[in-house]
Order: sequence, then structure tokens, then C-alpha cells
Amino acid sequence: MTNCAFCKIIAGQIPSTRIYEDEQTLAFMDIGQVNPGHVLVAVKPHVENVFGLDDTLAGAVFRATVRVARAVHAAFAPQGMSIYQANGPAAGQTVFHLHIHVVPRWDADGMNLTWPVKNPPREKLEEYAVKIRAAL
Ligand code: AMP
Ligand code: ZN
Repeated sequence: MTNCAFCKIIAGQIPSTRIYEDEQTLAFMDIGQVNPGHVLVAVKPHVENVFGLDDTLAGAVFRATVRVARAVHAAFAPQGMSIYQANGPAAGQTVFHLHIHVVPRWDADGMNLTWPVKNPPREKLEEYAVKIRAAL
């Protein structure tokens, strides 16, 4: 994709600080650094979001993410680690080339994802599950 920042990074057309790469993935430092050690793991082909991943690419990107997460953990010894991935603007995606955030976390570090639980009754869970199972 000609106008995709991450395609340009993967092709070496714009600068990045690279961490790890294999045939299908590239990990590089997130330019925004929510916390020191914040890394992005991107797939090499231009795939917009999780719905465009085949099983091979899905496996590859998570394998690389776990490898990078272990390294960030060893390097920064954070109190926690968030693995975060957004699909679509409503979910907070701003770069439309699939990537997974590896973010070392600290108590009260200011990174917040509000989690507005609804705690519906069991019948509702069953109703939702029926729909999802039918789509698998
Ligand atoms: P998302 O909201 O999940 O789409 O996140 C996109 C991330 O890409 C943000 O955390 C940005 O800081 C990061 N980002 C955008 N452009 C670059 C770039 N050229 N190099 C490294 N990270 C970038
Ligand atoms: Zn791209």
C-alpha cells in the first residue's frame, strides 16, 4: 500500500527503530512511547486489521509478540504488561495496518482503558453465545 506508514517502515522507506524481524513480522519502537519500551509488532503484508489475517499470519504475529514481550519484560522489569490491538476507529485504531502493542506497565502510569461492565444475566450470555457459535 503506497500511502501506509507501516508499509513504508517495513520497506525501509521511512525511519524506524527496529527490534526484531522474521519472514512475516517486524517489531519496532512505537514513536509515541506510552511507557519506555513500548514496541509495535506489525505483519509484513499490508493487512488492515485482524479480519484480514489468515491462520499462518495470525500465528506468526502472536508468536513474535510473545517473543518481544519476553524481551521487553527482561529489559525493563515492568510491574505489568499490556498486549493491545485495535481494529477500526471505534476501537481506537489510528494506523490501518495490523499491529500489536507491547506496553510495559507500571502502577498508576496513566494508561487507561475504561471497562464498563454490564454484568447481564446468564440468559443474555447464552443469547450472545448462540449468535457467535453460529458464526464460527
Ligand atoms: P493504533 O492506535 O493501535 O493504530 O496505534 C498506532 C500507533 O502507531 C501509535 O501508538 C503511534 O504512536 C504509532 N506510530 C505512528 N506512526 C509511527 C511511526 N512512524 N513509527 C513508529 N510508531 C508510529
Ligand atoms: Zn501497510
